[in-house]
Amino acid sequence: MAHALTLNAGSSSLKFGYFHLDTDAGEPDARIVGLVERIGQGQRAHMRAKGPDGAVLIDKEFGRNHVSDHGTALERVVAFLRDRRPDATLSAVGHRVVHGGPDFDAPVELTDKVIKRLAEFEPLAPLHQPHNLSGVRAALELFPDAVQVACFDTAFHRNHPWVNDTFAIPRRFYDEGVRRYGFHGLSYEYISSKLAEIAPHLHMGRTIVAHLGNGASMCGLMGGRSVASSMGFTALDGLPMGTRCGQLDPGVLLYMLQTEGMGADEIQNVLYRESGLLGLSELSNDMRTLEAAAKENERAREAISYFVFRIRRELGALAAALGGVSTLVFCGGIGENSVHIREKVCEGMGWLGMEIDEGRNLRSEQIISTDLSRVRVLVIPTNEELVIARAARDMLAQKEETAA
Ligand code: AMP
Repeated sequence: MAHALTLNAGSSSLKFGYFHLDTDAGEPDARIVGLVERIGQGQRAHMRAKGPDGAVLIDKEFGRNHVSDHGTALERVVAFLRDRRPDATLSAVGHRVVHGGPDFDAPVELTDKVIKRLAEFEPLAPLHQPHNLSGVRAALELFPDAVQVACFDTAFHRNHPWVNDTFAIPRRFYDEGVRRYGFHGLSYEYISSKLAEIAPHLHMGRTIVAHLGNGASMCGLMGGRSVASSMGFTALDGLPMGTRCGQLDPGVLLYMLQTEGMGADEIQNVLYRESGLLGLSELSNDMRTLEAAAKENERAREAISYFVFRIRRELGALAAALGGVSTLVFCGGIGENSVHIREKVCEGMGWLGMEIDEGRNLRSEQIISTDLSRVRVLVIPTNEELVIARAARDMLAQKEETAA
């Protein structure tokens, strides 16, 4: 029995999964899934993990500054896993890597050459790529004998039609790699595979997936393959997010540069860390906090309204790009849990053939549309970890075959 660890590093979090693998293509079996959050200077990090039956295996807060970076977070995760599974050796470590640039359209084994190339994409995803790669380096040191596999958020979108892959700027930029990459590909790949399993007839059709979490984007799929995405060159474009601005007139950047005299680092900080729900509400990047405050706090209400408005706009745009829509799927922390956001997104969408059932939505059922709704509206909890574990399994199988 082979074992794999999956790592998914966000700006201040590290999600992990411990899987049993059957390299003869059986589905990876998640034995432990967990998360370290609030990683960073001055913070009290928190680790939680559950077993396959949902039993809590650890729920622990660390002292301030005890988990100051992702390397230390990984050490804590490994210590916890070794404590739980002292005899297990890892055959593979699968990493979520946000940006694969124009080169990578499938998972790849992490060699020195690949890591060097991926480091060149750090400026394209400054909130994620450096953390992803520091996780890779730390894992290489901790598990030198394991196969290390990178799974890219951009890969699922690499076959977009050209009109969805380019910007209308001089062509030399496209040739240099300035393209619409799209992100959250691991999540979309999971949703696509799940749809194929639970509703193959819907999977064959035109689907819009709304991945609404701290990061948020939407994707149009035809027959399970991505044809358009709200995100572009970086993970800034499209929908507003927890702290990211979403779609922005590039003239605003010129204004910041020329009129406000802001530097590039300052602008980057505003667009990635101070905008989105946080920037508009001046309260929080967290939807739960905003929903709780919305009754009394007008700015929290306005931030939520802007979020919903942009999702609805994107829904219409993607429906047009797909030439219609047969299925809408909500996923991500907000998409899976916020009854209110789902209701507001679908409100008055009868013209698009979409109608949700209040009770089904309230109970977050798998299908929340009415029986008469032409568009099926679903809630599917996403599972990026499983997609990474599948890639680790396939890479191991491939290596076994080559060795045989
Ligand atoms: P993610 O990045 O996918 O983990 O999603 C994080 C976002 O989901 C945060 O904005 C949370 O506030 C939001 N979220 C999680 N649970 C709920 C809930 N029950 N209602 C509203 N938002 C939620």
